[in-house]
Amino acid sequence: MSVYRAYEVQGAGNFALVERELFEPAAGQVRLRVEACGVCHSDTLAVNGLLRPDPSVPIVPGHEIVGVVDAVGAGVTTWQVGDRVGVGYLNGHCGACEQCRRGDFVNCTDQPATGTTVDGGYAEVAFARASGLVRIPDGMSAVDAAPLLCAGLTVSKGLQQIDARPGALVAVQGIGGLGHLAIQYATRLGFRVAAIGRGTGKAELAAQLGAEHYIDSSVEHPGEALQRIGGAAAIVATAASGASMSPLVPGLEPRGRLIVLGASFDPIEVQTSDLIFGTRTISGSLTGSSIENEDNLLFSQRQGVRSMNEILPLSEAPKAYSRMLSGEARFRIVLDTAA
Ligand code: ZN
Ligand code: ZN
Repeated sequence: MSVYRAYEVQGAGNFALVERELFEPAAGQVRLRVEACGVCHSDTLAVNGLLRPDPSVPIVPGHEIVGVVDAVGAGVTTWQVGDRVGVGYLNGHCGACEQCRRGDFVNCTDQPATGTTVDGGYAEVAFARASGLVRIPDGMSAVDAAPLLCAGLTVSKGLQQIDARPGALVAVQGIGGLGHLAIQYATRLGFRVAAIGRGTGKAELAAQLGAEHYIDSSVEHPGEALQRIGGAAAIVATAASGASMSPLVPGLEPRGRLIVLGASFDPIEVQTSDLIFGTRTISGSLTGSSIENEDNLLFSQRQGVRSMNEILPLSEAPKAYSRMLSGEARFRIVLDTAA
Protein backbone atom coordinates (compact mmCIF):
# COMPACT_ATOMS: atom_id res chain seq x y z
CA MET A 1 0.00 0.00 0.00
CA SER A 2 1.55 3.30 -1.05
CA VAL A 3 -1.45 5.52 -0.34
CA TYR A 4 -4.00 5.71 2.47
CA ARG A 5 -7.43 7.28 2.86
CA ALA A 6 -7.98 10.18 5.23
CA TYR A 7 -10.76 12.61 6.00
CA GLU A 8 -9.21 16.03 6.15
CA VAL A 9 -10.75 19.39 6.89
CA GLN A 10 -10.04 22.05 4.32
CA GLY A 11 -10.54 25.63 5.46
CA ALA A 12 -13.20 25.70 8.15
CA GLY A 13 -15.73 22.91 8.28
CA ASN A 14 -15.22 21.33 4.85
CA PHE A 15 -14.57 17.61 5.12
CA ALA A 16 -12.93 15.92 2.14
CA LEU A 17 -12.01 12.28 1.67
CA VAL A 18 -8.51 12.26 0.19
CA GLU A 19 -5.81 9.79 -0.69
CA ARG A 20 -2.42 10.60 0.75
CA GLU A 21 0.98 9.24 -0.07
CA LEU A 22 2.33 6.96 2.60
CA PHE A 23 5.59 8.24 4.09
CA GLU A 24 8.03 7.04 6.71
CA PRO A 25 7.74 8.28 10.29
CA ALA A 26 10.11 11.07 11.31
CA ALA A 27 12.81 10.51 13.93
CA GLY A 28 11.24 9.82 17.31
CA GLN A 29 7.85 9.00 15.77
CA VAL A 30 5.91 5.89 14.85
CA ARG A 31 3.37 5.24 12.12
CA LEU A 32 0.13 3.42 12.95
CA ARG A 33 -2.44 1.50 10.98
CA VAL A 34 -5.56 2.91 12.58
CA GLU A 35 -8.11 0.39 13.90
CA ALA A 36 -10.50 2.88 15.49
CA CYS A 37 -10.77 6.56 16.33
CA GLY A 38 -13.20 8.22 18.70
CA VAL A 39 -15.00 11.43 17.83
CA CYS A 40 -14.58 14.05 20.56
CA HIS A 41 -16.16 17.46 21.11
CA SER A 42 -12.67 19.00 20.97
CA ASP A 43 -12.50 17.96 17.32
CA THR A 44 -14.33 21.25 16.78
CA LEU A 45 -10.96 22.96 17.28
CA ALA A 46 -9.59 21.26 14.17
CA VAL A 47 -12.79 21.42 12.13
CA ASN A 48 -13.21 25.16 12.74
CA GLY A 49 -9.58 25.94 11.95
CA LEU A 50 -8.70 26.96 15.52
CA LEU A 51 -5.27 26.29 17.05
CA ARG A 52 -3.91 25.20 13.66
CA PRO A 53 -0.56 26.84 12.96
CA ASP A 54 -1.72 27.60 9.39
CA PRO A 55 -5.51 27.33 8.93
CA SER A 56 -5.09 27.16 5.14
CA VAL A 57 -3.28 23.81 5.45
CA PRO A 58 -5.79 20.93 5.70
CA ILE A 59 -5.79 18.80 8.84
CA VAL A 60 -7.07 15.34 9.75
CA PRO A 61 -9.10 15.52 13.01
CA GLY A 62 -9.30 12.77 15.62
CA HIS A 63 -7.41 12.24 18.88
CA GLU A 64 -8.76 8.99 20.29
CA ILE A 65 -6.71 6.69 18.09
CA VAL A 66 -6.11 2.96 18.47
CA GLY A 67 -3.86 1.23 15.97
CA VAL A 68 -0.97 -1.09 15.30
CA VAL A 69 2.55 0.25 14.86
CA ASP A 70 3.67 -0.49 11.29
CA ALA A 71 6.86 1.59 11.08
CA VAL A 72 9.18 3.21 13.61
CA GLY A 73 11.34 6.27 13.02
CA ALA A 74 15.00 6.70 13.83
CA GLY A 75 15.81 6.62 17.53
CA VAL A 76 12.62 4.81 18.59
CA THR A 77 13.81 1.91 20.73
CA THR A 78 10.94 1.05 23.07
CA TRP A 79 8.18 0.37 20.52
CA GLN A 80 8.13 -2.21 17.78
CA VAL A 81 6.24 -2.92 14.61
CA GLY A 82 3.15 -4.89 15.61
CA ASP A 83 2.63 -3.18 19.00
CA ARG A 84 -1.02 -2.27 19.68
CA VAL A 85 -1.10 1.32 20.87
CA GLY A 86 -3.30 4.29 21.50
CA VAL A 87 -2.76 8.01 21.03
CA GLY A 88 -4.78 10.63 22.86
CA TYR A 89 -4.96 14.42 22.58
CA LEU A 90 -1.34 14.88 23.60
CA ASN A 91 0.83 13.58 20.76
CA GLY A 92 3.97 13.11 22.86
CA HIS A 93 5.99 15.35 25.17
CA CYS A 94 9.39 16.69 24.12
CA GLY A 95 11.34 15.66 27.20
CA ALA A 96 13.48 18.82 27.05
CA CYS A 97 11.37 21.89 27.90
CA GLU A 98 11.20 23.28 31.43
CA GLN A 99 7.82 21.65 32.16
CA CYS A 100 9.12 18.26 30.98
CA ARG A 101 12.29 18.65 33.02
CA ARG A 102 10.00 19.18 36.03
CA GLY A 103 8.03 16.04 35.14
CA ASP A 104 4.89 17.94 34.08
CA PHE A 105 4.42 16.31 30.67
CA VAL A 106 0.81 17.44 30.22
CA ASN A 107 2.00 21.04 30.16
CA CYS A 108 4.95 20.42 27.83
CA THR A 109 5.40 23.56 25.74
CA ASP A 110 6.62 21.62 22.69
CA GLN A 111 3.91 19.00 22.37
CA PRO A 112 1.75 18.62 19.26
CA ALA A 113 -1.99 18.17 19.83
CA THR A 114 -3.23 15.13 17.92
CA GLY A 115 -5.82 15.93 15.26
CA THR A 116 -5.59 19.60 16.21
CA THR A 117 -2.13 20.96 15.46
CA VAL A 118 -0.96 17.78 13.66
CA ASP A 119 -2.94 15.19 11.68
CA GLY A 120 -5.06 12.78 13.70
CA GLY A 121 -7.04 9.60 13.34
CA TYR A 122 -9.94 10.15 10.92
CA ALA A 123 -7.72 8.14 8.58
CA GLU A 124 -6.32 4.70 7.84
CA VAL A 125 -2.84 5.82 8.96
CA ALA A 126 -1.69 8.14 11.73
CA PHE A 127 1.59 9.31 13.22
CA ALA A 128 2.64 10.05 16.78
CA ARG A 129 5.69 10.72 18.87
CA ALA A 130 6.88 7.61 20.68
CA SER A 131 6.58 9.52 23.98
CA GLY A 132 2.82 9.87 23.39
CA LEU A 133 2.05 6.18 22.89
CA VAL A 134 -0.24 4.23 25.20
CA ARG A 135 -0.11 0.44 25.42
CA ILE A 136 -3.56 -1.12 24.86
CA PRO A 137 -4.28 -3.93 27.34
CA ASP A 138 -4.74 -7.44 25.94
CA GLY A 139 -8.41 -8.24 25.58
CA MET A 140 -9.55 -4.65 25.12
CA SER A 141 -11.07 -3.98 21.69
CA ALA A 142 -10.10 -0.94 19.66
CA VAL A 143 -13.60 0.55 19.78
CA ASP A 144 -13.75 0.04 23.56
CA ALA A 145 -10.33 1.60 24.11
CA ALA A 146 -10.62 4.61 21.80
CA PRO A 147 -13.02 6.82 23.83
CA LEU A 148 -11.09 6.12 27.02
CA LEU A 149 -7.96 7.73 25.53
CA CYS A 150 -9.41 11.25 25.76
CA ALA A 151 -12.87 11.22 27.36
CA GLY A 152 -12.05 8.48 29.87
CA LEU A 153 -8.66 9.86 30.83
CA THR A 154 -10.00 13.41 31.10
CA VAL A 155 -12.70 12.54 33.63
CA SER A 156 -10.56 10.02 35.48
CA LYS A 157 -7.70 12.50 35.94
CA GLY A 158 -10.16 15.21 36.91
CA LEU A 159 -11.58 12.98 39.63
CA GLN A 160 -8.07 12.25 40.90
CA GLN A 161 -7.75 15.94 41.79
CA ILE A 162 -10.36 15.46 44.47
CA ASP A 163 -8.98 15.50 47.98
CA ALA A 164 -11.92 13.88 49.76
CA ARG A 165 -12.64 10.88 51.95
CA PRO A 166 -13.99 7.62 50.51
CA GLY A 167 -17.75 7.84 50.46
CA ALA A 168 -17.79 11.62 49.99
CA LEU A 169 -20.46 13.04 47.70
CA VAL A 170 -19.24 13.99 44.23
CA ALA A 171 -21.48 15.59 41.63
CA VAL A 172 -21.21 14.93 37.93
CA GLN A 173 -22.73 17.71 35.87
CA GLY A 174 -23.72 16.72 32.34
CA ILE A 175 -24.56 13.13 31.45
CA GLY A 176 -23.09 12.83 28.00
CA GLY A 177 -19.87 11.57 26.47
CA LEU A 178 -17.78 12.66 29.46
CA GLY A 179 -20.41 12.48 32.17
CA HIS A 180 -21.54 8.89 31.62
CA LEU A 181 -17.90 7.88 32.12
CA ALA A 182 -17.40 10.23 35.09
CA ILE A 183 -20.27 8.56 36.99
CA GLN A 184 -18.63 5.17 36.47
CA TYR A 185 -15.14 6.31 37.51
CA ALA A 186 -16.41 8.24 40.54
CA THR A 187 -18.26 5.22 41.93
CA ARG A 188 -15.22 2.95 41.31
CA LEU A 189 -13.06 5.47 43.18
CA GLY A 190 -15.33 5.11 46.21
CA PHE A 191 -17.41 8.26 45.96
CA ARG A 192 -21.18 8.62 46.18
CA VAL A 193 -22.47 10.34 43.06
CA ALA A 194 -25.11 12.96 42.39
CA ALA A 195 -25.78 13.32 38.67
CA ILE A 196 -26.91 16.68 37.34
CA GLY A 197 -28.67 16.83 33.99
CA ARG A 198 -31.25 18.88 32.12
CA GLY A 199 -34.63 17.12 32.10
CA THR A 200 -35.31 13.65 33.41
CA GLY A 201 -34.44 11.72 30.25
CA LYS A 202 -31.13 10.45 31.61
CA ALA A 203 -32.13 9.95 35.26
CA GLU A 204 -32.65 6.23 34.91
CA LEU A 205 -29.37 5.73 33.07
CA ALA A 206 -27.51 7.77 35.71
CA ALA A 207 -28.90 5.45 38.38
CA GLN A 208 -27.91 2.37 36.38
CA LEU A 209 -24.38 3.74 36.09
CA GLY A 210 -24.22 4.13 39.87
CA ALA A 211 -25.52 7.60 40.74
CA GLU A 212 -27.43 7.78 44.06
CA HIS A 213 -29.05 11.14 43.38
CA TYR A 214 -30.37 12.87 40.28
CA ILE A 215 -30.80 16.63 40.01
CA ASP A 216 -32.78 18.12 37.13
CA SER A 217 -31.16 21.52 36.60
CA SER A 218 -34.03 22.63 34.34
CA VAL A 219 -36.44 22.67 37.30
CA GLU A 220 -34.21 23.38 40.30
CA HIS A 221 -31.07 25.37 41.06
CA PRO A 222 -28.36 22.71 41.02
CA GLY A 223 -26.24 24.39 43.71
CA GLU A 224 -29.18 24.62 46.13
CA ALA A 225 -30.23 21.07 45.32
CA LEU A 226 -26.72 19.84 46.15
CA GLN A 227 -26.76 21.73 49.46
CA ARG A 228 -30.06 20.02 50.37
CA ILE A 229 -28.26 16.66 50.16
CA GLY A 230 -25.29 17.88 52.18
CA GLY A 231 -23.10 19.63 49.62
CA ALA A 232 -20.56 18.09 47.26
CA ALA A 233 -16.89 17.58 48.05
CA ALA A 234 -16.31 18.12 44.35
CA ILE A 235 -18.25 18.73 41.18
CA VAL A 236 -16.99 17.46 37.85
CA ALA A 237 -18.46 19.83 35.27
CA THR A 238 -18.62 18.27 31.81
CA ALA A 239 -21.23 20.30 29.95
CA ALA A 240 -19.62 22.49 27.27
CA SER A 241 -21.11 25.66 28.75
CA GLY A 242 -19.59 28.10 31.23
CA ALA A 243 -23.05 29.49 32.05
CA SER A 244 -24.26 26.04 33.12
CA MET A 245 -21.37 25.79 35.60
CA SER A 246 -21.96 29.16 37.31
CA PRO A 247 -24.79 27.94 39.61
CA LEU A 248 -22.79 24.89 40.71
CA VAL A 249 -20.25 26.66 42.97
CA PRO A 250 -22.65 27.24 45.90
CA GLY A 251 -23.36 23.49 45.86
CA LEU A 252 -19.86 22.72 47.12
CA GLU A 253 -19.20 21.87 50.75
CA PRO A 254 -16.38 23.75 52.54
CA ARG A 255 -13.05 23.18 50.77
CA GLY A 256 -14.97 21.75 47.83
CA ARG A 257 -13.62 21.94 44.29
CA LEU A 258 -15.31 22.58 40.98
CA ILE A 259 -13.33 20.72 38.32
CA VAL A 260 -13.92 22.15 34.87
CA LEU A 261 -13.71 19.62 32.02
CA GLY A 262 -16.29 20.83 29.47
CA ALA A 263 -14.62 23.38 27.18
CA SER A 264 -16.66 26.34 25.95
CA PHE A 265 -16.19 29.92 24.88
CA ASP A 266 -18.54 31.49 27.43
CA PRO A 267 -17.28 32.31 30.93
CA ILE A 268 -18.15 30.91 34.33
CA GLU A 269 -19.49 33.66 36.58
CA VAL A 270 -18.86 33.26 40.26
CA GLN A 271 -19.68 35.27 43.39
CA THR A 272 -16.44 36.08 45.19
CA SER A 273 -18.16 35.30 48.48
CA ASP A 274 -18.96 31.77 47.25
CA LEU A 275 -15.24 31.16 46.91
CA ILE A 276 -14.09 32.95 50.09
CA PHE A 277 -16.66 31.61 52.57
CA GLY A 278 -16.08 27.88 52.43
CA THR A 279 -12.62 28.36 50.86
CA ARG A 280 -13.78 26.75 47.65
CA THR A 281 -11.69 26.19 44.52
CA ILE A 282 -12.36 26.15 40.78
CA SER A 283 -9.78 24.37 38.67
CA GLY A 284 -9.30 22.98 35.20
CA SER A 285 -7.93 19.60 34.27
CA LEU A 286 -6.27 18.75 30.97
CA THR A 287 -6.25 15.05 30.07
CA GLY A 288 -3.14 13.19 31.33
CA SER A 289 0.25 11.87 30.30
CA SER A 290 0.75 8.73 28.21
CA ILE A 291 1.66 6.55 31.21
CA GLU A 292 -1.39 7.87 33.09
CA ASN A 293 -3.47 6.96 30.04
CA GLU A 294 -2.05 3.44 30.20
CA ASP A 295 -2.84 3.24 33.93
CA ASN A 296 -6.37 4.35 33.20
CA LEU A 297 -6.97 1.75 30.49
CA LEU A 298 -5.95 -1.00 32.91
CA PHE A 299 -8.07 0.50 35.70
CA SER A 300 -11.04 0.71 33.33
CA GLN A 301 -10.60 -2.88 32.22
CA ARG A 302 -10.28 -4.24 35.76
CA GLN A 303 -13.14 -2.14 37.14
CA GLY A 304 -15.49 -2.64 34.20
CA VAL A 305 -15.71 1.00 33.14
CA ARG A 306 -17.16 0.98 29.63
CA SER A 307 -17.88 3.78 27.22
CA MET A 308 -21.28 3.47 25.56
CA ASN A 309 -20.52 3.90 21.88
CA GLU A 310 -22.21 4.39 18.57
CA ILE A 311 -20.00 2.88 15.90
CA LEU A 312 -19.69 4.15 12.33
CA PRO A 313 -17.24 3.29 9.53
CA LEU A 314 -14.49 5.75 8.57
CA SER A 315 -16.42 6.52 5.38
CA GLU A 316 -19.08 8.19 7.56
CA ALA A 317 -16.70 10.47 9.47
CA PRO A 318 -18.48 13.74 8.53
CA LYS A 319 -21.82 12.26 9.65
CA ALA A 320 -20.19 11.02 12.85
CA TYR A 321 -18.81 14.49 13.54
CA SER A 322 -22.14 16.25 13.01
CA ARG A 323 -23.96 13.68 15.11
CA MET A 324 -21.45 14.24 17.95
CA LEU A 325 -22.02 17.99 17.60
CA SER A 326 -25.80 17.55 17.79
CA GLY A 327 -25.44 16.18 21.33
CA GLU A 328 -27.74 13.29 20.47
CA ALA A 329 -25.13 10.53 20.39
CA ARG A 330 -25.47 7.87 23.12
CA PHE A 331 -22.79 8.64 24.21
CA ARG A 332 -19.50 8.53 22.32
CA ILE A 333 -19.08 7.94 18.60
CA VAL A 334 -16.25 5.77 17.36
CA LEU A 335 -15.05 5.35 13.79
CA ASP A 336 -14.34 1.68 13.23
CA THR A 337 -11.59 2.00 10.66
CA ALA A 338 -11.15 -1.75 10.32
CA ALA A 339 -14.81 -2.15 9.32
ZN1 ZN B 1 -10.98 14.79 23.29
ZN1 ZN C 1 8.38 19.37 26.84
